[in-house]
Amino acid sequence: IKKIAILTSGGDAPGMNAAIRAVVRSALDKGLDVYGIYEGYRGLHQNKIKQLTRYSVSDIINKGGTFLGSARFPEFKDPAVRTECAEVLRSHGIDALVVIGGDGSYTGAKLLTEEHGFPCIGLPGTIDNDIPGTDYTIGYQTALETAVVCIDRLRDTSSSHHRISIVEIMGRHCSDLTLSAAIAGGCEYAIAAEIGFNKEELIQEIESSFAKGKNHALIVITELVTDVHQLAKDIEARVGNETRATVLGHIQRGGTPSAFDRILASRMGVYAVDLLLQGEKGRCVGIQNEKLVHHDIIDAIDNMRRPFKADLLDVANKLV
Ligand code: ATP
Repeated sequence: IKKIAILTSGGDAPGMNAAIRAVVRSALDKGLDVYGIYEGYRGLHQNKIKQLTRYSVSDIINKGGTFLGSARFPEFKDPAVRTECAEVLRSHGIDALVVIGGDGSYTGAKLLTEEHGFPCIGLPGTIDNDIPGTDYTIGYQTALETAVVCIDRLRDTSSSHHRISIVEIMGRHCSDLTLSAAIAGGCEYAIAAEIGFNKEELIQEIESSFAKGKNHALIVITELVTDVHQLAKDIEARVGNETRATVLGHIQRGGTPSAFDRILASRMGVYAVDLLLQGEKGRCVGIQNEKLVHHDIIDAIDNMRRPFKADLLDVANKLV
């Protein structure tokens, strides 16, 4: 391997820049040439490729987002489009590819390896912490800190106005962010996507806690579970107290990456280059029990479902 390329794909996450920087600098240190592919697989198809130097990645370790840009490119699911992309890579003499993204991006990387013999390594970049084969994804810890800051602010105003606040947290079908934010934010109710909830029971619990003298409540809920604005109306209609829903949305995706995410991203980036130099391909990088690991991408996606963190829900529920 003499020339490698790197791209970021799917939703952005804080710490992606630190991962790019680590891949670029460790590859240069090993005497490789490094190319940046702008805007994910779409940019690859459009030949948006530039050689990177160590200075291309100066001053980005502390920046959120990804300076390479990211994109959704569903056309990459078409084998003919992937063949064209492999040709673009070959036309630059690129031997291997590092893909930072979620499981969709991983699948694309694995297909390039399988169909075109193109060595690819995936790094887990998403705030959702929903990628198999790793305990933590790059961006998750930063998003958690952001969510907790937002919850703290909502707590101030909720308690001043005796209000009920519903906070919708990202994570798609994974509630790691919701449950951790519930504990750190001292929230009264945590609703996880994996478990769902019974609206009637929730309202009755709120009613009885207000009857005992409580005068505000914070409810955290994973996105896609229910329409939180309708839920707020339903709670207010029954309990009487003003109830507001706040959707944190993309606020959670931005911002300065935490030290944890910068370090995780740096370690994973260096490890990815080492794996490529050892001849590995079609692998995804993770951290499990504090150790860097790598798995077959498809095996990870198909067989390493992340367990629901029932212990976190239990702690959140016990501390109300
Ligand atoms: P996140 O979940 O954080 O948004 P992701 O990588 O899962 O990240 P997706 O939108 O699913 O996000 O995938 C990103 C890109 O990866 C897609 O736009 C597409 O180019 C490529 N991709 C996704 N699924 C496949 C697939 N089954 N085969 C080939 N390429 C795929």
